[in-house]
Amino acid sequence: MGYHLSPSTREWQAKARNYVDSVIPFEVYAEGHHGALPDGEAKKAKERAKALGLSRLDVPKQHGGLELPLLDQAVIWEQLGRATNAVAWHFTEAQPWMFEACTPSQIDKWINPLVRGEKYEAFALTEAEAGSDASSIKSTATKQGDQFVLNGEKWFVTFSNIADFFFFEAIMTDDPEGRHGLFIVDKGTAGIEYLEEPEFSHTFPCHHATMRFNNVKIPLDQLVGKPGDALDFTRRWFRRERIMIAARCCGAASRLIEEGMAFAKTRKVGEEVIADFQLIQAMLADSLTELYAARLMTYEAAAASDRGEEASVLHTQASMAKLYATEMAGRVADRVTQIFGGRGYRRDNVAERFTRELRVDRIWEGTSEIQRLIIARSMIKRGVNGILGKIG
Ligand SMILES: Cc1cc2nc3c(=O)[nH]c(=O)nc-3n(C[C@H](O)[C@H](O)[C@H](O)COP(=O)(O)OP(=O)(O)OC[C@H]3O[C@@H](n4cnc5c(N)ncnc54)[C@H](O)[C@@H]3O)c2cc1C
Repeated sequence: MGYHLSPSTREWQAKARNYVDSVIPFEVYAEGHHGALPDGEAKKAKERAKALGLSRLDVPKQHGGLELPLLDQAVIWEQLGRATNAVAWHFTEAQPWMFEACTPSQIDKWINPLVRGEKYEAFALTEAEAGSDASSIKSTATKQGDQFVLNGEKWFVTFSNIADFFFFEAIMTDDPEGRHGLFIVDKGTAGIEYLEEPEFSHTFPCHHATMRFNNVKIPLDQLVGKPGDALDFTRRWFRRERIMIAARCCGAASRLIEEGMAFAKTRKVGEEVIADFQLIQAMLADSLTELYAARLMTYEAAAASDRGEEASVLHTQASMAKLYATEMAGRVADRVTQIFGGRGYRRDNVAERFTRELRVDRIWEGTSEIQRLIIARSMIKRGVNGILGKIG
């Protein structure tokens, strides 16, 4: 039933489901403990994630990766999305562009440890005055002898508390065109300052600090790729990650619908279970219908990438999947909260937690407004059929 998935994709789906089911019981504990798991459980989850290969899903085989089709990865991330509080997120992923951009010694020192699940990285791009428009960053990298000197303030650096190193994006002051460079900076390098660790709506163990890089000195060979490559790396990362965010939102929505329906079938008001009330049925029906649409879009955007369709069209399709799936998941969380009634407002209720957690999916990796701009500009350029495929 539904989108055709091969037996091996189904196998991945089952393995990811198993892993997530093993950590879901810790969600409520995590909610009450700043995102932490009970003693020893984080270590176990990390080991399980590593054994499953979650840190190397998208890594080329020649570098020890699984090089899975994007559809398989979307199916896996959909399952991971069923859990709240990031209880399943005990790994970072090495990404294909890293192997194209990094030198052999950079791969050896920083990227292979990511593949092996031994290190964490964080990506420091956003600034106080540069979020949606990443091209307007002000951070600088200036060549001084055999070093780069980095300066700038970065906001919302996810994994800031556990990262072993940072990708830091900055304007290269010596570049005549002022292009951006991407730099690897080890945690602990002199001059890195943590300005604040704000509380966010979600209760995750990873933080999103505001950080300042004050005259941080790194060797010249910590530049990744060439000047000007950084925006292209970011664009490639976004294309993939937007599909994975869409997938996670589908997983969240399917869990919400299952839990909301189970409650509706047992909760009695008067003599009747609320699942028999047509207004409740309408909420469930709308939710399932929208999930169906979002899942088809997400799987198809991933499969189109596996078929090697044109990058600019894929970029648009990834934006459509992210826009629709993130907004769908927000509506589903709201409806399911309503179905739970007062219980849906308790922090030990999955619908309450998802209502807070899913909100960021409409903001990070490009807000809903930015996705709409990408889609609109692309359709004006390519036409309807240029994006959706030719008819007849
Ligand atoms: C929890 C969290 C984790 C994050 N992790 C990271 C990370 O690891 N690394 C990193 O670099 N960044 C990270 N970010 C930053 C995130 O990518 C940005 O917040 C996002 O891109 C939006 O930028 P902004 O917050 O500056 O909003 P702004 O760009 O200031 O936008 C404000 C509002 O204006 C709208 N808007 C902006 N431009 C337009 C336009 N042209 N047309 C119409 N509307 C527009 C936006 O949609 C939004 O509604 C994270 C953010 C959060 C909340």
